[in-house]
Amino acid sequence: MMKNIGIIIELDKGKIKEANFGMITLARAKDTQLFAFVMGAAGNLKKELESFGITRIISVLLAKEQLNNPVVRAKALINAIKAHHISVVFGLSTARGKDLLPRIAALAEAPLVMDCFNVDLEENLVMTSQYSGKTMATIKLKGEVLVLGVRPNAIEPVNSPGLAEIVEFDGSGLDSKGFKVVKTGDSDKNAAISLVEAEVIVAGGRGMKNGENFDLLSRCAKMLNAAVGASRVAVDSGWVPYSMQVGQTGEKVNPRVYLAWGLSGSIQHFAGMKTSGMVIAVNTDKNAAIMSNCDYYAVADALEIIPELTKLLKNG
Ligand SMILES: Cc1cc2nc3c(=O)[nH]c(=O)nc-3n(C[C@H](O)[C@H](O)[C@H](O)COP(=O)(O)OP(=O)(O)OC[C@H]3O[C@@H](n4cnc5c(N)ncnc54)[C@H](O)[C@@H]3O)c2cc1C
Repeated sequence: MMKNIGIIIELDKGKIKEANFGMITLARAKDTQLFAFVMGAAGNLKKELESFGITRIISVLLAKEQLNNPVVRAKALINAIKAHHISVVFGLSTARGKDLLPRIAALAEAPLVMDCFNVDLEENLVMTSQYSGKTMATIKLKGEVLVLGVRPNAIEPVNSPGLAEIVEFDGSGLDSKGFKVVKTGDSDKNAAISLVEAEVIVAGGRGMKNGENFDLLSRCAKMLNAAVGASRVAVDSGWVPYSMQVGQTGEKVNPRVYLAWGLSGSIQHFAGMKTSGMVIAVNTDKNAAIMSNCDYYAVADALEIIPELTKLLKNG
């Protein structure tokens, strides 16, 4: 029987975030119809979505003052999902997805698995990592609706061109029972590129020596369109906010390239970045653990190389 698969599309300033295309590629399977759920008008997104095999775009319309209310978003989405008889819901395991998907699963009384990197929709099997990546789990799910959070950048996007139609869904008139969003905004100056979604991350550790040197790293990151990460030492020293910590007790990241500056590569740091596509390390100590756990390394002083690299990128 044909299954309806729903994909919640995450936007950034009205544009489809790159990580959505890998998620759509993962959700494509035999005997399925792909529905994309978009908050707001979807006319300018149609071409891109249909080039990845979406056949129906559900444009969920909310009152303007409710657009940033996660309770109302979840309620509107679950109503739209039910109206279109969706049996599997995909969303991204991003900061926003981690807030939204559990709410949707709770409303639908559905099983939820976050951080998936593979699925088998015929058998309802999902694969995810557990215990900071120490084990891989294959989980069999049962339920009228399943909710899956997909690890950003884990799947290479592959086109599958077709045609899609846009259907509007009125999500206005929903209440959030005492939950009111007063204000939203970026939490720090480095929040422009999210760590979990970044294709390139430059991360610094104790070897950066102070917070001002992280400003050097931020300037270099800007040239590479990269996010800035940090080791726990850098966070505990007060050089950067906790939101930048990568590792067992920080963010789990999955970039294509991870540039590690002046960090030793502890087990706890690795727990957060070991699925990176390529790891490049710069360290003054050639015996640091990271040097034998990376693709390329340079034995050098990070504080000398970073300004030089930034200059080269600027002029290049
Ligand atoms: C329960 C628990 C959870 C933890 N969770 C995390 C976590 O989530 N994330 C995390 O990162 N850590 C975590 N830690 C801490 C972890 O064990 C390490 O202490 C930490 O990762 C080390 O950070 P670092 O690599 O910056 O510092 P160090 O281990 O001190 O390494 C600094 C490195 O910089 C190099 N260096 C020095 N100067 C320069 C220079 N000028 N140029 C280039 N290289 C230079 C040195 O050779 C050295 O290799 C956790 C620890 C515990 C016990």
